[in-house]
Amino acid sequence: MLVDSHCHLDFEVFAKDLDQVLSDAHQNHVERFFVPGIKSQQWPSLKQLSQVNTSIKSGIGLHPYFLNEFNTSDLDLLARCSTESWVSAIGECGIDGFLAENRQEECFSAAHQQAVFETHIDIANQCNKPLVIHHRKSHHLIHQSFKRIQPLSGGVIHAFTGSLEDAQRYINLGFKLGCGGTITYERSKKTQSTFKNLDLSHIVLETDSPDMPLNGKQGHRNEPANILEIALCLASLKELTLEEVALKTSENCKELFGFSL
Ligand SMILES: [Zn+2]
Repeated sequence: MLVDSHCHLDFEVFAKDLDQVLSDAHQNHVERFFVPGIKSQQWPSLKQLSQVNTSIKSGIGLHPYFLNEFNTSDLDLLARCSTESWVSAIGECGIDGFLAENRQEECFSAAHQQAVFETHIDIANQCNKPLVIHHRKSHHLIHQSFKRIQPLSGGVIHAFTGSLEDAQRYINLGFKLGCGGTITYERSKKTQSTFKNLDLSHIVLETDSPDMPLNGKQGHRNEPANILEIALCLASLKELTLEEVALKTSENCKELFGFSL
């Protein structure tokens, strides 16, 4: 069995054929799914999605991309909802360095992104749930935040790209690294080498559907079924069998999100 640890199945692009998407995933042995929260307006539909479908777990969070829709009461709501039993993780949250550099609005400034992110860490610590963290050009800012408030319940660094040293700093704080379609690209030598050298106990698989298409599938909607191809690519990089990769990465997701396997 394989698990997609990060897919946005609640997005409009899946509204018409979600049952087919899930059945295509099952055909490829992808049988559990984690769907992150990105803004407060969307959390009720995640609650429904995970209650209707036992193979889906969800989290709640405020994604940096949507901070222009952010309201300070969202953080109170996040704290209040965090203890509800359907909430398996806090996130997707984090810091996007590209946004901080390229968008003028104050809500995207590094300082504001860090403040919102640090509240997520605090809430995750209080409810003892894992964090699902978005990063882009922001490892240094994330570690600055971790110095101010240490995460106590681990989580996932989603769509991890970086060096083995970058990975190790997160592992030391109890995080797992999300391995996605990036490793299917010939040009991604650094990330391939990092995942080749990381122990499987630190890795979870993810598609980030509908985004981050695999090599050869650019321009198409990404889907959880593609986890099989990512798993095969990782197995080949690490010279392991598909079964070994499937077993360990699924166990890691069970540990993080509480899936039954
Ligand atoms: Zn995401």
